[in-house]
Amino acid sequence: MNVFEKIVAGEIPCRKVLENDKFLAFYDIAPKARVHVLAIPKKCVKDFQEADSKLLGELSAFVQEVVKVLEIDKIGYRIVSNIGADGGQEVPHLHFHILGGEKLGSFC
Ligand code: 5GP
Repeated sequence: MNVFEKIVAGEIPCRKVLENDKFLAFYDIAPKARVHVLAIPKKCVKDFQEADSKLLGELSAFVQEVVKVLEIDKIGYRIVSNIGADGGQEVPHLHFHILGGEKLGSFC
């Protein structure tokens, strides 16, 4: 099991933001911004490239809910998904990083 599957299974604790039957959002253990939350599907899919459009649509809608809970929906935020080796992905389980809570530096 990868680390996110262990979090979903409750084997590794996390600071939850929002959860439903399919998705979980929790604070990143090594935050890169004042707010840094990860949104994942509970069922493991390796990465964005492997995900089908239904899953990505549902995960996107979940992210829209998460940012409302975080109260950053109006002030703005950034979502990032690292994919594969060149993308710098460390955990082989689809996830969106949700970054915000401060003015973020320009990235691209
Ligand atoms: P990636 O590089 O795969 O896009 O991002 C993986 C993220 O998972 C990293 O930002 C890392 O800090 C986070 N992470 C890794 N292990 C844990 C953990 O056990 N708990 C939490 N909350 N985050 C983790």
